[in-house]
Amino acid sequence: MEEADFLIIGAGIAGASAGYGLASHGRVLLLEQEAVPGYHTTGRSAAFFAETYGNEAVRRLTTAAKDFFLSPPDGFADGPLVRDRGALFIADEGQLAALDALFTDKRRTLATVERVDTRFIAEKLPLIRPRAAVAGVWDPECRDIDVHALHQGFLRGLRRRGGRVLTNARVAALEYANGRWRAACADGREARAPVIINAAGAWGDQVAAMAGARPVGLVAKRRTVIIIPAPRPMAGNDWPLTLDVEDKFYLKPESGRILASPGDATPMEPQDVQPDEMDVANAVHRLEAAFDFAVERVERKWAGLRTFALDETPVVGADPVVPGYFWFVGQGGFGMQTAPALSALIEGLVVEGRVPAALQTFGVEAEMYGVRG
Ligand SMILES: Cc1cc2nc3c(=O)[nH]c(=O)nc-3n(C[C@H](O)[C@H](O)[C@H](O)COP(=O)(O)OP(=O)(O)OC[C@H]3O[C@@H](n4cnc5c(N)ncnc54)[C@H](O)[C@@H]3O)c2cc1C
Repeated sequence: MEEADFLIIGAGIAGASAGYGLASHGRVLLLEQEAVPGYHTTGRSAAFFAETYGNEAVRRLTTAAKDFFLSPPDGFADGPLVRDRGALFIADEGQLAALDALFTDKRRTLATVERVDTRFIAEKLPLIRPRAAVAGVWDPECRDIDVHALHQGFLRGLRRRGGRVLTNARVAALEYANGRWRAACADGREARAPVIINAAGAWGDQVAAMAGARPVGLVAKRRTVIIIPAPRPMAGNDWPLTLDVEDKFYLKPESGRILASPGDATPMEPQDVQPDEMDVANAVHRLEAAFDFAVERVERKWAGLRTFALDETPVVGADPVVPGYFWFVGQGGFGMQTAPALSALIEGLVVEGRVPAALQTFGVEAEMYGVRG
């Protein structure tokens, strides 16, 4: 029987970041069903940092996380966690109303967001087809996140603080008695702690059901990514993250190649999700329609599950009924960019029962993220 102060279920970015903060306050045990932490959504992300992405609750977390990304704690990572990229939303003639709405919405959060014309777009994207981009919106502050460095930084920090990670440890049953949780793993191992944190991503409601908590209605949605050769001539690594204003595709340079997605969001049961050929074909078709290059071949493809609560705000905090049980789920398409702030939020809620002052200054309030409805 493993004894701990905090049992965390799931070792994706959520579980790793929660463990990082909590390891300063007691013995953390992170239980991961797969052989490698990050096997599911965390290892399949795109991943950008964009303060204008998501709803208001998400934006507050992202802005609160910015300092951590720009200057992480000493020893957290070997290199920078983010690199400048910039995001360019493009619209064809029929999408101008959507572009107006997007501009108003993003400008609300970031004063540096601007409307741009075809000249600006052609300079950034030499191969764009003019009819695919008659106008655009430019977010100069969007950045690439080094997901591996972020995830490993949290795991390394957790271990340095005495926390432990058990892999191949699928929690199959949870039981609460005499002020302690007992987690039984499928392989027979057991662990005990007064507090459990559900960071199980797409499996969040299944883990909740094991603990006797009422599910919050998480929906896991498949998103597909392809890697294709860079077209020639290409403006090297300089292309911005380029997004269709209605989310029909996005692309960005990735290690000398192009990473692209058709922006799919198909509801799925939690699983080791694989790409669907129709989504791959859609990605290729939409890229070729917008850019003057032919996709020679798809070099790699994968899919990941982005898991959302109904209002697309993460669910973080104590369950209103079940004792010693904390939610840390619903990180949707923003779990990377919010991770440092969510780590601080769950640490504050578990240890002190309140939102840390540093997060309050960004308008982060417990009620926004607690169990709703
Ligand atoms: C294509 C794509 C693009 C994305 N782009 C971005 C982006 O640009 N910016 C951004 O911020 N975010 C992005 N995201 C979202 C981000 O990747 C997720 O929000 C984040 O990875 C979710 O992390 P998680 O730890 O909650 O889930 P996961 O990484 O899935 O981790 C959950 C873990 O729980 C484990 N688990 C489940 N049940 C059990 C059990 N019973 N016992 C033990 N372990 C269990 C699973 O094995 C899994 O490892 C993107 C996601 C995808 C798929």
